[in-house]
Amino acid sequence: MTAVLEARSVCAGYDGVEVLRGVTLEVRRGERLAIVGPNGSGKTTLLRALAGVLRLRGGRILLEGHDLPAMSPRWLARRMALLPAETESPFAFRVREFVAIGRLPHRRWFDREGKEDARAVERALQATRTLPFADRDITTLSSGERQRVFLAQALAQEPELLLLDEPSAHLDISHEVEIFEGLLAANRAGLSWVAVLHNLNLAAEFAERILLLHRGRIVAAGPPEAVLREEILEPVFGPALRVDRNPASGAPNVRIAPRAVASEALGD
Ligand code: ADP
Repeated sequence: MTAVLEARSVCAGYDGVEVLRGVTLEVRRGERLAIVGPNGSGKTTLLRALAGVLRLRGGRILLEGHDLPAMSPRWLARRMALLPAETESPFAFRVREFVAIGRLPHRRWFDREGKEDARAVERALQATRTLPFADRDITTLSSGERQRVFLAQALAQEPELLLLDEPSAHLDISHEVEIFEGLLAANRAGLSWVAVLHNLNLAAEFAERILLLHRGRIVAAGPPEAVLREEILEPVFGPALRVDRNPASGAPNVRIAPRAVASEALGD
């Protein structure tokens, strides 16, 4: 697999705060990659750097071999979409119109919406199960519904690479699984994606590779069974985790084992 996106020795942060301390990674074409790590480890910062919305203090990011800052917003938007964690719409769009905004990078400004645009919007509404409220005003939706609509807009953009920040943060467990099954189907159709996830088990089930971030550095990278190991997780998350396997899928399964619960189970 060739790299669609590469980060080389990336350093980035905010006024007075150094967050990313030399991150090197590649996203292979057609892959599903999860970025995990504790709160504050720099996951969102890394995703924003990869999307080109954060100025780097050092290093380079290349999309299909091109330095991000050298490319036009339109060139980038035809290849890469970012789904942020917070999905607020400041305007009262109808859902279908909002999703159709994702088609703009594919049209010249004076073009009307074409058949292919309408088909892409329909596919995105179906994949995210948002068709039932396609004619509602986006500001009347629940946060979970709105999150799926934002994902629909990103899918309608038909990028080669989708960057997702906690795409299921506001979703109940059934919608969470639905969204990830949708992302799995989109991946089979050619979409590469990188998702920041706090749920290690979702990463284990749906990603091919996991990067573990700790204090702005990648401390482990590889397939789920290579990264989700107690000896790797303990220095990062502490000792209250146990790893076994999900009998339904065979993927690693991370369980909490707080000392109080463990000792009660042993009858201490
Ligand atoms: P994560 O996504 O892993 O929780 P973030 O990338 O959001 O981590 O944050 C990494 C660090 O950067 C944290 O210490 C956070 O407080 C800080 N940070 C994030 N955004 C900003 C900002 N806009 N200004 C200043 N510091 C920030």
